[in-house]
Amino acid sequence: MSVSRRKLLRDIGVGAVVGAAAPALRGFPLTSATEAPRANSVAADQLSRVATAADPVLLYRNENPYGPSEKVLAVLRESVASGNRYPRTEYDTLIGKLAALHNVKQEQIVLGCGSGEILGMAALAFLKPGKKLVQAAPTFPSLGKLAQGAGIEVASVPLNKRYEHDLAAMQDAARASTGIVYIVNPNNPTGTITPRKDIEAFIGKLPSDVIVLIDEAYHHFVTPNTAYESFLERHFDDPRIVVSRTFSKIYGLAGMRIGYAVATPELAKKLPAGFPNWSVSVVSARAASAALDDVDYVLLGIKRNTDDRQEFMNQVNARMLRAIDSQANFVMVNPMRPPDEVIEHLKKNHILIGPKYPVLDKYIRVSLGTPNEMQAFWRAWDLLPSTGKMAM
Ligand code: PLP
Repeated sequence: MSVSRRKLLRDIGVGAVVGAAAPALRGFPLTSATEAPRANSVAADQLSRVATAADPVLLYRNENPYGPSEKVLAVLRESVASGNRYPRTEYDTLIGKLAALHNVKQEQIVLGCGSGEILGMAALAFLKPGKKLVQAAPTFPSLGKLAQGAGIEVASVPLNKRYEHDLAAMQDAARASTGIVYIVNPNNPTGTITPRKDIEAFIGKLPSDVIVLIDEAYHHFVTPNTAYESFLERHFDDPRIVVSRTFSKIYGLAGMRIGYAVATPELAKKLPAGFPNWSVSVVSARAASAALDDVDYVLLGIKRNTDDRQEFMNQVNARMLRAIDSQANFVMVNPMRPPDEVIEHLKKNHILIGPKYPVLDKYIRVSLGTPNEMQAFWRAWDLLPSTGKMAM
């Protein structure tokens, strides 16, 4: 395998799988990943996508619009027949693959019913009244909502001017009585990254009992660059770090509800305390294992997202709109008019986009769909009444 291909695989987090999947990968040219047949939902993505009330275009939850790979779909179909059995070998198989992928021990992996459940586990294990949550604003709201619902203090620290986590301000906030600092990288809803070296320096200055939960749900969509590096890439041996990942995004398995955490064995033992032993189904676990094996499909997904994101930015620029430079599968756009109006107009045209974020209240968040879905989006956009003046 060429050095550059090895580097690419490492960058996208499939490097460690190469050993296990070597026969499948050996001599495989990168270009053929981009030429693989398109997945199920794309076959149904008509030449011209018509959005209807019964079949709206879903650009609101940062899902994978292409769906899982054909290989994973086949495993899903055949696994349903085992639905009468509790998981038997599925957990061990999947945990073994994840441990190999990330070059960690099996006892460092925790599976969850979506990475949302991992966030719930972290909240239960490490937050309590008097042990607050420190997070960015805006960020993925789930953990903050869990904390607030339990009466736990949440310190929400605005992103800095570059839309990175403002680590200096977060450090101030975390000085006293903090249970978890939550870092979403790339961040949702901005799609922006916070450089790893800054996060490392930040962690070095945190009190020794503060857990750092690094949510890498959108890891695969980052265009390789010197600032970004996953915390699963080059191990940063710190007993306070939990990294969460999901099968909902690049692997196209959002509906199957499966995610995982990687932490030290001690921390990984504490995480699931109080949660059911088997919250991941036989079908989901087998599908996730198959998705890890299908490295070509991951490469294809990365290529598609890069192309779709670039095309989205071309359309943004053609309309003289502004957007935050995204490293994820969604983009924050300033529509230059009240966001509520735009969200409502698109909804009437059966195009659903993300909610308004109070902290970035001039923006809308658009998840990237297939090219035909995005054409439907821009067709509906161009039906917006002209403003006459810039509203923003
Ligand atoms: N973390 C982030 C940053 C997200 O955006 C999401 C969902 O969109 C999740 C976690 C939860 O994902 P899931 O529970 O599907 O793994």
